Amino acid sequence: MEIKKGIAVSPGISIAKCLVLDAEDYRIPRRSIQPSQRMTETQRVRNAFKDAIEELAHLQEEKKEIEGRKIRDIYAVHLSYLRDKSLRKKITDFVHDESVTAEFAVSKTLRDISGHFAKLKDPYMRERAADIYDIEHRLLRRLVGDKREDIQRLDVEAVVVARELSPTQTAGFNKEYVKGIATGAGGRTSHTAIVARSLGIPAVVALEDITDSVTAGDTVIVDGNRGIVVINPDDATIQQYLEYAVEFAELSHRLDAIKEKPAVTRDGVRIVLWGNIEFPDEAQLVLEKGGEGIGLYRTEFLYLNRDTEPTEKEHYDAYSRTVEVLKDRPVTIRTADLGGDKYTQSKRYMREPNPFLGLRSIRFCLQNLTMFKTQLRAILRASVLGKVKVMFPLITNLQELMQAKMVLGDVMEDLHEEGIKCNSDVEIGIMVETPSAALTASMLARDVDFFSIGTNDLTQYTLAVDRGNELVSTLYSSVDPAVLRLIRTVIQDAHKAQVEVSICGEMASEPESVMLLLGLGVRILSIAPPLIPEVKQIIRSVTIEECNKVARKVLSMNSERQISGFLRDAARKILPEAF
Ligand code: PEP
Ligand code: MG
Repeated sequence: MEIKKGIAVSPGISIAKCLVLDAEDYRIPRRSIQPSQRMTETQRVRNAFKDAIEELAHLQEEKKEIEGRKIRDIYAVHLSYLRDKSLRKKITDFVHDESVTAEFAVSKTLRDISGHFAKLKDPYMRERAADIYDIEHRLLRRLVGDKREDIQRLDVEAVVVARELSPTQTAGFNKEYVKGIATGAGGRTSHTAIVARSLGIPAVVALEDITDSVTAGDTVIVDGNRGIVVINPDDATIQQYLEYAVEFAELSHRLDAIKEKPAVTRDGVRIVLWGNIEFPDEAQLVLEKGGEGIGLYRTEFLYLNRDTEPTEKEHYDAYSRTVEVLKDRPVTIRTADLGGDKYTQSKRYMREPNPFLGLRSIRFCLQNLTMFKTQLRAILRASVLGKVKVMFPLITNLQELMQAKMVLGDVMEDLHEEGIKCNSDVEIGIMVETPSAALTASMLARDVDFFSIGTNDLTQYTLAVDRGNELVSTLYSSVDPAVLRLIRTVIQDAHKAQVEVSICGEMASEPESVMLLLGLGVRILSIAPPLIPEVKQIIRSVTIEECNKVARKVLSMNSERQISGFLRDAARKILPEAF
């Protein structure tokens, strides 16, 4: 039995055999195969080469018109390696002679070659190591892609263990069979964690070398409440966890009972609870859990797990289905937040050095107007069906907001000209999730109907800590004094300008932070649907006066450690079962 401690990101307990997914960026463990499988594995190597050549040739062709020689030259070098029969033979011989998987043979062979280049004195030759690394990745993407198929065909319950999972992979999981998730990488607000929470799959991340500690078929316990993973537990441990699972189910059941009751503080202040969704299917869950609207619909998930961009009809179908479920309650549709850790099909192979600081979100949309307009048309068409609100993500300055609004205006005009109905008074808002937007909130407020504070990104950008990187996860905290000061500024500026303000980052669903946020003046929280009852319970147990006191106290503290300790104690007194 081995116990590993990571970060709990999605509550619940699961016990099942594990399925290990190899991630493209990390060491591929050596796995032996039966002699009878050698033919299949060598064929997989050949297919991977063939597909990679086709893909590269296509990319090279595309680049011809728009870019200079350099990229084409790089592609040409990569193609020459891939077409080198002796390299392919070396790998297939390795599979055959050593009886190992295709991915292990590819990874080992190419890493040996790149290691050799990296040691050379000649800088030109040393650079070839990067080429080999790239080729390895390209091939592994094909091969690990095959593995992902396994998960699509999964027909028994399993805990998925991986070095790293992309939000795209996680979104494709069938929750009927994927019972738990344990990853080496990741942080509390990484999109993979968010998706796991939405799907209601218990998950623990930041388990470092977990993939080295398990073998496919091991029994694994994922404790998404305490951040613990147990590999091959003994009988007593299994028994203990079965009891925990019953306790957790009872707590959820008890909390569900408050669904019909309003989210009102003990001194009578009404708080609005909305849900965050990634897929239209979750809209029903928001209502079932007692949510009164959708405060964040992460529409970029429409673009993932597919080969082509969604059509206007596909967008419209998704939005109209959601609005139909919510009837006249608000549905806040956030325009595509692609880039960062979520790639469209066309961008998948064009990774940026700092994707979270790169062509992400509204920036990507404003550079891809055809795609952006397709989505806006669908949103506007759906706006006549209910209470649709449009929200632009990652706004960093007024000019960007004005540009986005101008495109929306153009699309509206087009629809009018075509005689297609839309709500020309549709509410327009922005996510405040960059320090620059927070600091200029008073200026931005003049041009929006609402703000939604995205504490996940606001924390990442304020503290310069990658939200998905487990190596710096202890530095990531939404209750850091710097982040709290920005949140306070945004709330105050919104109130002054009489602009609606809500919080839709994960902070809004953390029991420890709820009192603080109410004390800072927020009255609308948008959270992952399964967590709505817990947050409501907290709201119903406190007075605004108590919350104000908590906020005042916290703002007088000057260290994150002190603040988080104080908040944990305060929340523990109110909802001890949650800890
Ligand atoms: C946020 O950044 O807080 C947010 C809600 O958006 P996302 O998590 O999708 O980046
Ligand atoms: Mg964000």
